[in-house]
Amino acid sequence: MEPRTLVFFLREFFFPGGCGLCGTALLGPGEAWQGLCEPCRESLEAAGGTETPGRERCGRCGRPLISEQDRCLPCRERDDWNCESIRALYPYTGKYRKLLAAYKFEKNLGLGNFLARRLAGCCREFPDFTLVPVPPRPGKIRKAGWDQVEYLARRLKDEGLPVRRCLRRLSSQTQKKLDRRNRLKNLEGRFVLTGTAPRRALLIDDVMTTGATLEACAAALKKGGAEQVCGACLFYD
Ligand SMILES: [Zn+2]
Ligand SMILES: [Zn+2]
Repeated sequence: MEPRTLVFFLREFFFPGGCGLCGTALLGPGEAWQGLCEPCRESLEAAGGTETPGRERCGRCGRPLISEQDRCLPCRERDDWNCESIRALYPYTGKYRKLLAAYKFEKNLGLGNFLARRLAGCCREFPDFTLVPVPPRPGKIRKAGWDQVEYLARRLKDEGLPVRRCLRRLSSQTQKKLDRRNRLKNLEGRFVLTGTAPRRALLIDDVMTTGATLEACAAALKKGGAEQVCGACLFYD
């Protein structure tokens, strides 16, 4: 057991936190480890798709389809996407938003354990792929204190999945204020390879907004020799 995991267990044993969604005290050791009471955990396990996208989900980005078939409108804009297929678990709305906030900002590692386990289900749909975590913005770690995607990557590795940290993000102006097209433009060349790109890479990220980050990472990996790049995210916006 990693020292970090041991610390987690000890802290939860002596100072048990509440459920990350409803706040109920977590009494069972399994509950504390996943940061959720049993009813909340069950409801989250029932929701969220890890299944291969069919008619209900876009075959590329994994978002639910409304009236379209096979692919959503933005994904039809081109057919040469570098990141060719994406799975995303939950919509970034309502209680799911709360879930990410508790994980990200309150550093609820129990929720991180739960989310990583759910994400592992997505990852297993891509056998022979090596997981590549999307690197954080420079300076972000200093500000937020930690890298929540890296935590997921560590847990996924614990689940027996291969992980390679071979990307670095160069500093860029903040993405939030830009529209979709400018985001794509702004992100081009913002990611560089720091190691060998796996032949088949599965990018790991927390939230997919426009998908521009995944696309830019995929472009860098392809430039470095990756043949196929896909992605797995916790939330889609
Ligand atoms: Zn609960
Ligand atoms: Zn799509």
